[in-house]
Amino acid sequence: MKKKQLFLLAGISILSLLACNDGDSEDLVLSKNEKIEQSETSKILCSFPYYPAFSCSSVIKDNLIDDEDTSIMYNALTKMANYWKIQEPSLMFVHDPVNPYSTKTAVVHPDGFILYGYAQFYDAVQNDHNNYNHTILPITILMHEFAHILQFTHNLPNPGNLPPNSYITEGIKELEADGFTGFYLGRPKGLNKTKFSEIASVCDYFAMNATNKHHGTPEQRRSAVRLGFLLATEWGVDLTPQDFDKYFFLYFAGVYNGEYRNKTSENFRNPKLDAFIRKHIDELRKIASGEISAEEFKKL
Ligand SMILES: [Zn+2]
Repeated sequence: MKKKQLFLLAGISILSLLACNDGDSEDLVLSKNEKIEQSETSKILCSFPYYPAFSCSSVIKDNLIDDEDTSIMYNALTKMANYWKIQEPSLMFVHDPVNPYSTKTAVVHPDGFILYGYAQFYDAVQNDHNNYNHTILPITILMHEFAHILQFTHNLPNPGNLPPNSYITEGIKELEADGFTGFYLGRPKGLNKTKFSEIASVCDYFAMNATNKHHGTPEQRRSAVRLGFLLATEWGVDLTPQDFDKYFFLYFAGVYNGEYRNKTSENFRNPKLDAFIRKHIDELRKIASGEISAEEFKKL
């Protein structure tokens, strides 16, 4: 079934290429309905305020190619909103009939909804080798975007939880979003993954696709996901977004500063959590520095 979708996407792409060659792309590729959708939605996509995340030939859809996949993604979003106790944001998919591979991204629009590219979804499905229905990776990417909604809703990262002049500040929101993702993967009411090896390759795809520098380096992203996962599984408590923010930076910023804990956050200490994380602090530092390679990371 999933393979059929990939073929469909590939088919659209081939059509597009052929269409470009004879200079009459839209008539060949776009159905009448898609043309209407395109003119209605291109305003949102073309006026994206930060950078053109999607091309102006894209259309916004409320479904993927397969209804089952659509349900899986919407259900995953509902579960995230319930877990983190915020209003469920809107999720829309983006398809570019002219150049299908241009939609290999997912972003949060400043108006608070998630735009998830078709190409991003199907690329993630194709690269999800560990799971029988191949949806853990697409859901993981959704969780990263959802984390930005959490940050926006709760005004995170809280500057009071960050050490001053920390060099991690550049990609701080992105790395925290990775941390939230690792945490959610490990919580029983989240994706309930108890072994890191089950999700490590998923997280590595995540890290390696950070071509945009503002996300942090792949090594930093791996260490952020790993710390989030450890907070979820080693401590064993559910956290509010605000508490996650405190504890994530207590250790993440501490490790980056060459310390064990962030000294400005001593009042957040929890002795039981401290003891758990202390066992992994060297490992976190080595993931972040690259001393633990991508291959070794997958075996943690
Ligand atoms: Zn992000």
